[in-house]
Amino acid sequence: MRRVRLGKTELMVSEVGFGGIPIQRLTDEAAVEAVKRCLDLGITFIDTAHGYGTSEERIGRAIRGRREGLILASKSPARDGATFGQHLALSLERLGVDVIDLYQFHNVSTQEQFDEIVGPGGALEVAREAQAAGKIKHIGVTSHSLELAIMMAASGLFETMMFPLNFVTQEPLERLIPTCRQHDVGFIAMKPMAGGMLENATIAFKWLRQYPDLVPIPGIENAAEMEEIVAIMESAEGLTDSERAEMQRLADELGTEFCRRCDYCQPCPQEIPISTLMNLKSFLKRFPPERFFGMMGEVVAQAEDCEDCGACESRCPYRLPIRSIMRANMALYAEQRANYRPA
Ligand code: SF4
Ligand code: SF4
Repeated sequence: MRRVRLGKTELMVSEVGFGGIPIQRLTDEAAVEAVKRCLDLGITFIDTAHGYGTSEERIGRAIRGRREGLILASKSPARDGATFGQHLALSLERLGVDVIDLYQFHNVSTQEQFDEIVGPGGALEVAREAQAAGKIKHIGVTSHSLELAIMMAASGLFETMMFPLNFVTQEPLERLIPTCRQHDVGFIAMKPMAGGMLENATIAFKWLRQYPDLVPIPGIENAAEMEEIVAIMESAEGLTDSERAEMQRLADELGTEFCRRCDYCQPCPQEIPISTLMNLKSFLKRFPPERFFGMMGEVVAQAEDCEDCGACESRCPYRLPIRSIMRANMALYAEQRANYRPA
């Protein structure tokens, strides 16, 4: 498989990485097997996170005895140094390794979060100490906020940027990706299948293959999915006319209701986490039921307080009908909850 240079880290990673969210849904054995088979396919880049439940531990089991040549990435949502240090220690332990190649600040999407990370006693200080001590090799960041991501890419503080990119969410191509290229920040494309909203891997990856310096990390639940993606990436075929037409149709269809999690709709007077609720279907597809209900129960309860002011909709740059999507997602949650029978 082709290798891609991950910006100034100089790490050479497989042109597709393994996204570690969905293996939480599987049994231990199935998860370990899925990771191992992806390694057999030539995947050398694995991304997980402190917050992905059993993912780090399962990846740790799968890579035992096969660490060499692998580029491991994980992340912590902590903003303060002390918590970040605890998360890193746990990541190392769960993965069963002495060093993690890339450790990222997870979802830094507001100026306040950024300020806390880079401020005194913040997570960046501890990350740099860990780097000096040889526990991590490189420091990256992930985000859902375009403006903040552009600023962070230009800041010189991070070696990689992970941001959503797919043919429905093409905005990063305009300024974020050029900024990353200019500052030699490696770009990792999260949600290449729009968080499970796109079914057609052929179109999604043929489109991404046009940008050979970017590294997509699809969330993988079984090795067959990765086999299909690898075959698409390795084939020389470009998008056909009918695939382009299908891409346009899907982009038009999803574009009317696809939330980019930019949070421009905030602040909500009722403090409703709008983007989380807007993405409920994607969470439903990617997370195990207990996790899904645990995450969304409180959000749905909060959304009951919506006072229908419409302020969010006037701020959304994509003009999404936020209130009606929220209501539909709340109904879907109630239906799922009613039908859920724990194993
Ligand atoms: S319409 Fe509801 S969700 Fe939107 S800003 Fe007003 S209270 Fe918040
Ligand atoms: S609803 Fe609109 S403004 Fe709010 S996060 Fe989604 S895309 Fe951004």
